[in-house]
Amino acid sequence: MYFLGTAGALPTTQKNPPCYMIRRGSDMILFDCGEGAQQQMMRARTGFTVDAIFITHWHADHFLGVPGLVQTLSFMERTEPLVIYGPPGVYDFVDAIKMLSKNPIRFSLVPIALRHGSVVPFSGYRVTAVAVQHGMASLGYVLREDERPGRFNREKAIALGVPPGPLFGRLQRGETVSVGEEEVTPGDVMGPSRPGRCVVYTGDSRPNAEDWKEFGMDPDLLIHDATFDDAAAERAREVFHSTAGEAAVVAGEIRARILALVHISSRYRSTANHIQDAAQLFEGDVIAPDDLFMAEIPFRE
Ligand SMILES: [Zn+2]
Ligand SMILES: [Zn+2]
Repeated sequence: MYFLGTAGALPTTQKNPPCYMIRRGSDMILFDCGEGAQQQMMRARTGFTVDAIFITHWHADHFLGVPGLVQTLSFMERTEPLVIYGPPGVYDFVDAIKMLSKNPIRFSLVPIALRHGSVVPFSGYRVTAVAVQHGMASLGYVLREDERPGRFNREKAIALGVPPGPLFGRLQRGETVSVGEEEVTPGDVMGPSRPGRCVVYTGDSRPNAEDWKEFGMDPDLLIHDATFDDAAAERAREVFHSTAGEAAVVAGEIRARILALVHISSRYRSTANHIQDAAQLFEGDVIAPDDLFMAEIPFRE
C-alpha cells in the first residue's frame, strides 16, 4: 500500500493531491489519481502497470493526474485497456480526456460508473463502492480479499491414517482422499476459514460509520478524510469533510486496526493535533502518513 499523495485540496511542497496505490501480487490499483501522481509513482518506483483506477468524486484534486498518466502510458505503448471507475460523470471525464488530447491514445480507456454497493471482482479480492456524504455524488471504496482456507491440522491427519506426502496437499486443496477403506474429508483436517485483508478508503467524506459497517467491518487499514482537527468541527460539517476525531470514532465503530488520517488541510503546519484528537477516541494505531509512505499489510492471525 503506497500513500503517493496525502494532501488535502491544495498541494504543498511536501504533499501531493490524493493518490493511493494498492499492489497485490502483480496487480496495481489506484484509488484517486491527483495531479503529480505519475511522478510520485516514479519516486516510489512502483512502475506504471496500472490495472484499474477508482476515482472517488469529481473534485479536481482527486482526478487531475489521470490525463497525464494516460499520456505517459500511451507513450510507453501500453496496449491493455485501462478501466476508470467512479461515480456517474466518469463517462464525461473519459470523453473529455480523449477530446482534449491531440496525441492519439493507443489503448482503450474504459469508463465504468459505480453506485453504492457496486462490486468489482478481481482475482482473489474485490472492490466495493460505498456512497459517502460529501455534498455531491461521491464514493468511498472497500478492498477486501477472499477468505483464506483454514489451517491444516497435520497431527489430526496423521491420526486419521493419512500419510505425510501428496495426500496432504490434496486435502489442503479441498479434495477428499481415501485411506484404505476410509475417506478423509477436508472438513476433518482443516480449521475454519480465515478472513482476508481489507483496506477502506473514504475519499472526501463526512463520517459515515453505518454505511462502512455494512461493507467494511474489521479493516486492517482505514484511510479516512481528516481535513480538519477537532477545533474546526463546525467548518468540517459545513464543507462535508471530517475531523480527526470523527475519523477516529468511525475507526472504532468498524473495528479498524490502523487509522490513517489523510487529506489534512494545508492550513496545518503539523499533524500533531490531528493525531492527538484521534488517539483520544480510538484504541488502535493512528498515523498521519507523509507522501511516499509505504505500508505492508500483514495477515491477521
Ligand atoms: Zn479533496
Ligand atoms: Zn472533495
